[in-house]
Amino acid sequence: MSEHHQHRARKRFGQNFLHDAGVIHRILRAIHAREGERLLEIGPGQGALTEGLLASGAQLDLIELDLDLIPILQAKFGHEPRFRLNQGDALKFDFNRLEAAPHSLRVVGNLPYNISTPLIFHLLDNAALIRDMHFMLQKEVVERLAAGPGGGDWGRLSIMVQYHCRVEHLFNVGPGAFNPPPKVDSAIVRLVPHEILPHPAKDHHQLERVVREAFNQRRKTLRNALKALLPAAAIEAAGVDGSLRPEQLDLAAFVRLADQLAEQPSAD
Ligand code: SAM
Repeated sequence: MSEHHQHRARKRFGQNFLHDAGVIHRILRAIHAREGERLLEIGPGQGALTEGLLASGAQLDLIELDLDLIPILQAKFGHEPRFRLNQGDALKFDFNRLEAAPHSLRVVGNLPYNISTPLIFHLLDNAALIRDMHFMLQKEVVERLAAGPGGGDWGRLSIMVQYHCRVEHLFNVGPGAFNPPPKVDSAIVRLVPHEILPHPAKDHHQLERVVREAFNQRRKTLRNALKALLPAAAIEAAGVDGSLRPEQLDLAAFVRLADQLAEQPSAD
């Protein structure tokens, strides 16, 4: 057996490699890459998805952090001119380096679960470049991404992601599809950035502030949770009942609160 097959999965890099061919095909079918498209795969590992992505005829950039995997990937795919390997941390990657046209980049990844939330936020900062994203995530995270108001899954992650994207929970994947198997269930999610935001805020930083503050204290009423940010009159002016709990408000209501916050004299 060549040394290429002896890479040991590293926990600190969140390495759980896909080995179930059925699951790999199902993911590739959901992505449905085409010739000429621009793909970006985050955390390709040993290339379980990479091979099928390249076979589509698309142009593929990879970002992989683990130095030991770089020669393995280079040996497998380096002969292919449509393939480019970027070694580094996806959390720090400057997506403008890819010189992709607006709304063109298709981002794919069986992500390391320990960095999935900050990585999604980093990608949303670059949403104007992105056409869509397909990720394998912890199932519980996908449920939060796809949640609607009124339940315990609805929170900062759901709201900030749904502000930018349409979210589809595509299917679940059990631990047995990976080597080594993770301790949690996984799921595939599709995120499609809106070309026109359905509920644009005057300033999305104010939306982040109001959502963070509200869900820091999700058991309190809005009036109490937002005391430091908004007077009761401003909550009322947003058309929001201050006696509700944060999880009862939909995205549009949070945007109205953010717009009130933008009008406050103390707003940053
Ligand atoms: N895509 C492969 C598969 O499905 O078999 C590997 C998935 S594994 C869950 C996550 C991969 O992300 C690993 O290869 C790991 O080294 C890589 N990784 C971890 N942290 C990273 C980071 N900050 N930036 C880029 N890649 C990272």
